[in-house]
Amino acid sequence: ARTYVVTGAASGIGKATAQILKDAGHTVIGVDLKGTDVSGDLSSTAGRVQAAEEATRLAGGTVDAVIACAGLSIPRAITVAVNYFGMTEFIEAMQPALAKSAAPRVALISSMASMQPVIAPLVDAMLEGNEAAAMEIAAQAAEDPRAANVIYPSSKLAISRWVRREAPTAKWAGAGIPVNAVAPGTVVTPMTKELLATAEGKAMTDAYVPMPLNSHQPAESIANLLIWLTSVENSHCCGQTIYCDGGADTVLRGDDI
Ligand code: NAD
Repeated sequence: ARTYVVTGAASGIGKATAQILKDAGHTVIGVDLKGTDVSGDLSSTAGRVQAAEEATRLAGGTVDAVIACAGLSIPRAITVAVNYFGMTEFIEAMQPALAKSAAPRVALISSMASMQPVIAPLVDAMLEGNEAAAMEIAAQAAEDPRAANVIYPSSKLAISRWVRREAPTAKWAGAGIPVNAVAPGTVVTPMTKELLATAEGKAMTDAYVPMPLNSHQPAESIANLLIWLTSVENSHCCGQTIYCDGGADTVLRGDDI
């Protein structure tokens, strides 16, 4: 049995992931705002560091895998704090505990939204690790309804780029730690409940995210891929964003791989 730390474990994809792992006999330490083993707010540096310390302590110092699911899709600056810095800074704080494992693994959640238009300076500020600048750009964007909707895609493109940049470095690949992301299409979770509840919301979502294979997906479709990416069997998948999106990526991006 392995020890997993799962963020966002109180709801949706994180909750499904934690449940499948527990049912398979693994130890799971859930992190979320409330309702899990570690209560922590991943929107601030202090919250990320404290949550990582507490998770490491509960794990007894060694963690086999971190699966970062916690996220927000609201058109506000806090989405940048949680989706980008709440994943990357938390994972970095977990690196010493991962490095003690015989088969450490990391997986994050990106999104097919990473292929939508983004605010380039916002993506750059995130990748530079400049949270203050990123939050300022996002706060400005939040004032304009059209720019506001681009905050979420920007946070997810930055995640996919962070994974590509970081995965091959000494800290991760060099320490024997595969780092990868999964990019979902439209998953039926509390995050999308309101959107999918009305005909207009559903039509708008389906126009942005065409899913020729099996349409909207259950949380388990993402959970099982996150679990494979963080299993012992994954020895060579490195720095990838794997699209598990009912074909949305193939429709939208076509030959442009
Ligand atoms: P969800 O809303 O069901 O779960 C997200 C969890 O993150 C919640 O439990 C929430 O409390 C937690 N969270 C939010 N802010 C936090 C904070 N500051 N500190 C700690 N925890 C916090 O959503 P979900 O659909 O399960 O989404 C999981 C991930 O998948 C997110 O990163 C999301 O962006 C991504 N995603 C979802 C979809 C979808 O269609 N649902 C599509 C693509 C990507």
